Amino acid sequence: MKQSKPTIKIIATGGTIAGAGSSRTTTTGYQPGALHIDELLKEIPDLSNLSNIEVEQLFNIDSVDMTMERLLELGKYINQILLEDEIDGVVITHGTDTLEETAYFLHLVVKSSKPVVIVGAVRPATALSTDGPLNIYNGVKVACNKESHGKGILVVLGDRIGSARYMTKTHATTVDTFKALEQGCIGAIVGSNVHFFYKDITYLHTTETVFDITSVHQLPKVSIIYAHQGDESFLYDAVIQSGAKGIVIATTGGYTLSKEAAIGARNALNNDIVVVRSSRLSSGVVSLTHMDTHHGYIVAEALNPQKARMLLMLALTKTNDKEDIQQFFYTY
Ligand code: GLU
Repeated sequence: MKQSKPTIKIIATGGTIAGAGSSRTTTTGYQPGALHIDELLKEIPDLSNLSNIEVEQLFNIDSVDMTMERLLELGKYINQILLEDEIDGVVITHGTDTLEETAYFLHLVVKSSKPVVIVGAVRPATALSTDGPLNIYNGVKVACNKESHGKGILVVLGDRIGSARYMTKTHATTVDTFKALEQGCIGAIVGSNVHFFYKDITYLHTTETVFDITSVHQLPKVSIIYAHQGDESFLYDAVIQSGAKGIVIATTGGYTLSKEAAIGARNALNNDIVVVRSSRLSSGVVSLTHMDTHHGYIVAEALNPQKARMLLMLALTKTNDKEDIQQFFYTY
């Protein structure tokens, strides 16, 4: 018999939200992933008013160490957990540095419409005014909300709810760091209310994608090359030699590649590597031009390079056909 309160599984992975510093005023130079989720939850007794809580400490790492093996493990674990009738939603605790990459990966591979929320914190758990406990509390509140169903992975920090497709970390140290710069947040937590501004986002996600990681044991290698003045093509040669199947270029603007980058990219294409043009700018759309169709590049549309890499890895588990991959970038 189903209990009246929802049951939320909290999956802890580490990060600043589980970080410990040497004093209460230490907000840099602390150790991320130092504390167990049970210790963090002791600070939030009110959680039990919202839901029954189950916890799993899957990893306890700095999110920069979220390898593709760990990412696959996390995705498979969430899919398995959400099959259980008694679990109504999932909240993941995560380091903020690569939170958007994990969030978007899960947005593409989770096969459930139950709420999945990812939270982090900018101040370690031991600091004055740490933002972690309230972010966890709000994350659980959003996961318990009926309107959170079918919206893909939701990023909850600082009283805002954003889509994993859009949210990005915009500031190295301030608490108000996660933004959806062009598209805006999709909701807010106001006191005890969860308020959604939109029903859903334009792009397809979770149950609507073609990606199934059940039998994927290794993701195809995709590297990002950051374009800059004085670019040199040897970076591309190094990636080609590494056995990569894809390259995302964080181009300088929306359209151009330097002569050197173009030489490198051509070498990559000649080695059957899929090349995606994204932008090192944090806003805007990289749209298809004659240059792309002529040379055989794919464009990332509005995905930043680190999210474009996630989509390209998954796309390459399905196909090498460039038109199909470009369609994925338009659709997801
Ligand atoms: N680099 C750490 C991490 O991503 C700390 C950043 C954070 O969590 O805010 O896990």
